[in-house]
Amino acid sequence: FSSSPSPSSMGSEAEIERVLWTEEEIARRVAELGAAISADFKGAVPSPVVLVGVATGAFLFLADIAREITVPVAIDFVRAESYGAGTESSGEPRISGDLKIDVEGKHVIIVEDIVDTGNTLSRLMSHLEKKGPLSVSLCTFLDKPARRRVNFELVGEGKFYRGFECPDYFVVGYGMDYAELYRNLPYVGILKPEMYK
Ligand code: 5GP
Ligand code: MG
Ligand code: MG
Repeated sequence: FSSSPSPSSMGSEAEIERVLWTEEEIARRVAELGAAISADFKGAVPSPVVLVGVATGAFLFLADIAREITVPVAIDFVRAESYGAGTESSGEPRISGDLKIDVEGKHVIIVEDIVDTGNTLSRLMSHLEKKGPLSVSLCTFLDKPARRRVNFELVGEGKFYRGFECPDYFVVGYGMDYAELYRNLPYVGILKPEMYK
């Protein structure tokens, strides 16, 4: 494979400038988060707890953390769209795909790839709150607090879990994309500057 960007190599390792978290570091942290959730929700009533993955970015994180959680869970997805193909949030995210599971009276844990401005999450929180859940927690793989513009509130006794605090870069990999590419990289990294066009 060529190491310089060309249409056929786009979306591969060659465009990564720097790795922020390796596959091994991610696995260790996800196991810790899964253990924390398992301890906090042990014996929780009602059961199961509903894990709500935010498509598409959370698909790998959800798959990995679900296998580290030892309490009964149900799994569903919502789809939120804010970015289009760029690196800046539109500020008006849209819920374009809704839950199949009825979460009224249930414990819900939102599973997100990254919370950046907070727009998507606050929109999603109020969307879920209207369904009458007993609690809504957040489990986000990455958190970029430096860029927060909108605050969000957990519902009921909801808890906050986060994998890593992310420095102020646009990151890709482990589910996260740039123009729908790079989601399948098993680590998280920053692209070479020339890739952002
Ligand atoms: P927010 O609405 O909080 O600004 O951003 C929410 C969504 O935008 C995230 O769930 C994620 O899908 C996307 N996003 C935010 N920051 C990044 C980033 O650094 N890299 C990638 N690939 N997506 C991001
Ligand atoms: Mg997301
Ligand atoms: Mg995206």
